[in-house]
Order: sequence, then structure tokens, then C-alpha cells
Amino acid sequence: MSKQGKIGVTSENIFPVIKKFLYSEHDIFLRELVSNAVDASQKLRALASAGELKGELGDLKVSISFDADAKTITVSDRGIGMTAEEVEKYINQIAFSGAEEFLDKYKDDKVAIIGHFGLGFYSSFMVSSRVEIQSLSYREGAEPIHWSCEGNPEYILEKGSRTERGTDIILHIDSESEEFLSKDRLSTLLNKYCKFLPVPIVFGKKQEWKDGAYVDTDEDNQINDVHPAWTKKPSELKDEDYIAFYHQLYPQTFEEPLFWIHLNVDYPFNLTGILYFPKVKNQMELQRNKIQLYANQVFVTEDVEGIVPEYLTLLHGVIDSPDIPLNVSRSYLQSDAQVKKISNHISKKVADRLDELFRNERSLFEEKWESLKVFVQYGMLSDEKFYDRAVKFDLVTDIDGKHFTLDEYRTLTEGEQTDKEGQLVWLYTNDRNSQYTAIERAKAKGYSVLLLDGPLDVHAVSQLEQKLEKTRFVRVDSDPIDKLIAKDEQRAVSLSDVEQKALKALFEGRLPREEKRNYSVSLEALGAGADAVLITQGEFMRRMQEMARLQPGMNFYGELPEGYNVVLNTEHPLIQRLLASEKEVVEPKLSTLRAELQEQSELVEAARTVQSAKKPEEVSVAEREELDALTSKQAELEGKISEEIKKFGAEELLVGQLVDLALLGNGLLSGEALAAFIRRSQQLL
Ligand code: ADP
Ligand code: MG
Repeated sequence: MSKQGKIGVTSENIFPVIKKFLYSEHDIFLRELVSNAVDASQKLRALASAGELKGELGDLKVSISFDADAKTITVSDRGIGMTAEEVEKYINQIAFSGAEEFLDKYKDDKVAIIGHFGLGFYSSFMVSSRVEIQSLSYREGAEPIHWSCEGNPEYILEKGSRTERGTDIILHIDSESEEFLSKDRLSTLLNKYCKFLPVPIVFGKKQEWKDGAYVDTDEDNQINDVHPAWTKKPSELKDEDYIAFYHQLYPQTFEEPLFWIHLNVDYPFNLTGILYFPKVKNQMELQRNKIQLYANQVFVTEDVEGIVPEYLTLLHGVIDSPDIPLNVSRSYLQSDAQVKKISNHISKKVADRLDELFRNERSLFEEKWESLKVFVQYGMLSDEKFYDRAVKFDLVTDIDGKHFTLDEYRTLTEGEQTDKEGQLVWLYTNDRNSQYTAIERAKAKGYSVLLLDGPLDVHAVSQLEQKLEKTRFVRVDSDPIDKLIAKDEQRAVSLSDVEQKALKALFEGRLPREEKRNYSVSLEALGAGADAVLITQGEFMRRMQEMARLQPGMNFYGELPEGYNVVLNTEHPLIQRLLASEKEVVEPKLSTLRAELQEQSELVEAARTVQSAKKPEEVSVAEREELDALTSKQAELEGKISEEIKKFGAEELLVGQLVDLALLGNGLLSGEALAAFIRRSQQLL
């Protein structure tokens, strides 16, 4: 028996194509060869258990070896082997038509080409200049065969030399791929692809430390676990087993997982796996793509995007499904109905497991909430169905660390925190330190304050406001306490227009000038007992900015300076005292200006009255220009007056002291301004 022939592909150019298009994925050759060897071993095992094997099954193992001098890598198995006819059929006739067309279509999707059309074995030509097969079939009276091919459509098929059942695949590594002729490189690859294959995979011998060096022992170096935890029944596994498997998957991770979900589905699709919730130390450091995808225990990818819902890519663990079409393109995968079903199923399982934990072991659930929160929020934000399931166990945490479900929190706060429009107002802080004063004020009022300092809280809050009825979240320092939850009608500021302007000007002369922050003054009647000056930050704008900053290429809002209100309490004695001293000290100097302004304002008023009596088209150009001139003169006078008051305010120690105290209360005073404040305070004392 000796034969030369041509490989039965329609394209003459299959080998150059394999090399060229598949180049960047070339390490998968090992996965393909080892899984063929495993398939051959399992087929034999199946035959044996069906009683169709004559002779000994023996110990089925797959060995990988290399010879750096001969530049070969050999994958050997003791599986079913191949007869000459089988080589003809399974190796020589690559069974697809229109190869060129197909390769052209998928040329950007290398993984799709391999495997999908049975190119698994041929991937060996990505790294070899010649590939040999030595095989002896299990069939009675079979002849050993030898096949050899040099990466072109010609091959040789002749009598082989193998004396024991099974197959050797011998790769003659080409000069560009010599990196694979290394123990480290092969170990790494075997660990990546073969760690959980169902047949023992052996690479060399175990070593021991002897006389100052590592030497081989007699024991095989088996690199895989043939019964990984996910292939067992949940009832066979204890907590320790799950934890041990976690460490087996991630030898570099020392943290223990929070808990896990064992997936075990056989209808309407096949899926097994274990998903772990990792402990989240730093929420910004979340690692994606830690879930490993297997097909019948063969590692396929860590890129599970499109197979599990996006928020679950934060989980760790293993999914194994022969039903996921692994060797097709990603876009196909994402639109595949089967894959969608699998994804929905996993999502539901995760929600069920969380729900069960919440209902049965609430204190444990709360203990783990800090780590769980980000998954739950992410899930709720990105998946409506998950939202509906999770809204029952989504928790909020107050500043004392107490957890509540949304329903519980509603019941708790409904009485005290409903405003006059019937809106329930949930107060929160995202920084206890800088918002401490405002928190204390809210607590004194008997309000509850939530701690929302997680990375997704600002988004979660917006979602809850849309979903929950008549409920709004307000940061505790976004308004003076009486306005945060407006109950009865607000008291009006009882100062004349002139006084109000004077008071504002008094403080405007002393506002901090910073690039990233804008300050403006407003007046409120807050009662004599409240602080004289407070600093607030409007909820809406601040939240828009926070959200914008979380986006990658932050938009318009994100780049705006932050806006702060310096709120003057017109009923506070110190504010009243300042207004009085402005009247005493500044106003006498302003009497001429004020008289002029008075006159000017009357002229403006008169001109306006005349014009507003006419229809717009009857107002002449000259009249318009006159009014413009009058109003700009009026503005100029007002400007002069407020300049005078600002000058006074800027020098008035009490103004500076009140502003700085308010800034200090919000953690906004630092550096030079803080030093100046300390100096001034000492002077005052
Ligand atoms: P696939 O594994 O998807 O069938 P491959 O190209 O990897 O495609 O292999 C082609 C065929 O060659 C296999 O189906 C099998 O019949 C045969 N084969 C490959 N390797 C072996 C082996 N080590 N032992 C026995 N048969 C093998
Ligand atoms: Mg194969």
C-alpha cells in the first residue's frame, strides 16, 4: 500500500489561505489536535462500553511531546485510530464545496473558518512545513498507515510503523513557528485549552528537586482535571469543592468568591456551568471577561460577549455548552435565537439565585451587598426583565449602614418626607465628609439620609425616579433644609428691592474666584435659628454633570464648571447687621448716585409706558434708540452703586468670615484661602 494523491479541496490554494488568514490565531492548532485525540479516545471508550471492542481498552491518555533538535511536536493518543480508507475519507477529502468563496466571505473571522468546515486538523499547517500521521485502527486486522503532507495539495499515504492502536500526529514545525518548540510555551497553551478535557492529557514527567536541580520523576505530568466541578451534580459538591474549583480556575486570585450558581440545563438546550460572584474590592477595578466558555470541556474563549447578558460579564466562572455555535462569527452569534434563549436563561437563573438568597438568608445577603450592589444595579440598568425581578431585592443603605428594600424604605419615609405636592423625597449623600453639615441638619429634622457613593448610583437613582411613583432623590445639600422637602408655603424674603440688591452685592464682592467652580448669591428667609450663610448645589445640574463625567467622551455638561449657590438667610441677625452697617456706612456716600438712578429709572419707566401703549410697528427707530440709551445709563448707575457696595463687602471681615465658614462646612475651603481664613480668625479672636 503506497499512494500519492491530491487533497480533495476545490481550491488549490487552501494551504496558503490557512497560513495567511489564520495566522494570528495559530496557537489553536494544539487545541484542535488534542481535541481530535480526545474525541478518538472517547469514541473508543464508547465502543468498549457497547461491547464492540475486542481486546484491552487500557489506559486512555493523550501525550504531547516535542523534540527541539528534530523540530517536531507530537500528539499521541490510544484512541480508535484510522484505517487508510478513513484517512481518505476524513483527512484527504475536506468535505466542503466552494472553499474559495467561503474563505473569502469569512476572511476576517478566522475562528469561523477553523472548525466550522472541519478544518480542525488542517490548522496544524499554520505552524508546520510537513505533517505526518502514524495510525493503527482498533479494527481487527487493521494495517498501520503513514500519511505525510508538505502543506500543498499533494500527500503520500503508505504503510505505517505504529504497532499499538492509536494515532500520532507529528508536526514538523516551520522556521517561523519555532517559538512553539518550548516547554513553557506548550505548557501555557495546554493550560489554556486543555485544562478540563475529559481524557488525561500528559505533557512530560512530573519533576522533583534533587541535588540542586529539577529532574524528571517516573510519574506522568498530567495537566488536566478530567472531572471538573461543573460536570458533576450539584448534590455531589460541597462549598469547599466550589471554592477549590474557583481557585483552580483562577490560580492568581486569592479572594474567595461571594457565592455561586451551578447551571444545569438539558432542555431546550444543553448547558452546564458554574458562575461565581467575585468579591468586589474596588468597584472601579472590575474585570470583565473572566467567564470561560467551553464546548464539551474544550476551552473556546474568554470573550463571552453576546452569550451572557452584558452585566453578567462581570461574573467569573465557566459555561459549557455544545449547543452554542462556537465556530461561527460573533455577529451571527449575537443574533442567534438559541444564544438569546441561553442568555435569558442565565439571566433568570442569576436573578432567582439572588432572590432565594435574599429571602432565605437576608443577613448574609446584606453582608454581601456591598459587592453585589454593582451587579444588581448594572443588571437593572441594562436589562428590563432583570429589573423587574431585582426590584424586590434591590437595597438602599442609609448613612448608619442599615439596609432597606425600596418598599421598606418607602414605608419608613412616607410620613416625614412627603412634600406638599405629594412627592416622596429621598435624601442622600455621596460624600459624608464634605456634606456632613447638611446631613446633620437633615438628621436633626428627623429625616433619613441614604449613602449613595457607588459608581452606578447616579444612574440607578435616575432609573428609580422613572420607575417608582412620585419619588425623587435629592442630595442633602442641594437646598436649605426647609426647601429640600417643601411642606408648607415658603416664607418670602421681606426686604425691599434695593435692600436685596445691596445685600447680594455685599457678598458678591467676596465670592471665591475659581476656574472650576461658579458661585452665585441668592436670598432665602430661613428663620433666625438657621445658619446665616449656606452653600447649596442644585440637584438637576449637578446630577447631569456627574452623569456626563461618567461617560467616556464627556459631553457639554461634563465640561461646565460646577455651580454653587451661596444662600444668605435674610432672617439671621448677622445678615441683618451687615445690611444695617451697609446702610450706615455706604449709603450716605451713594446718595447722589441713588438720586441719579432714581431719576434715570423714572425716565426709563416713562419711555416704556409710552412705547407699550403703541403697537410694535408704530414705535420709531429713534424712540427705540432713546430707550436703549436710557436703560444702559440706568445699568451703568446700578453698576457703580454695586461696585461701591462690593468694595465695602470685600473689606468687611464679617462677610469674609461668613462666606469662608460656609465654604468650610462644604469642604470647599483649602490651600491659600484656608490659610487666610485661619489668619483672619485669629485676628478676630
Ligand atoms: P473534526 O474534528 O471537526 O471532525 P478535524 O479536521 O479536526 O475535524 O478532523 C477530521 C477527522 O479526522 C475527524 O473527524 C476524525 O475522523 C479524524 N481524526 C483526526 N484526528 C484523529 C485522531 N487522532 N484519531 C482518529 N481520528 C482522527
Ligand atoms: Mg477536530
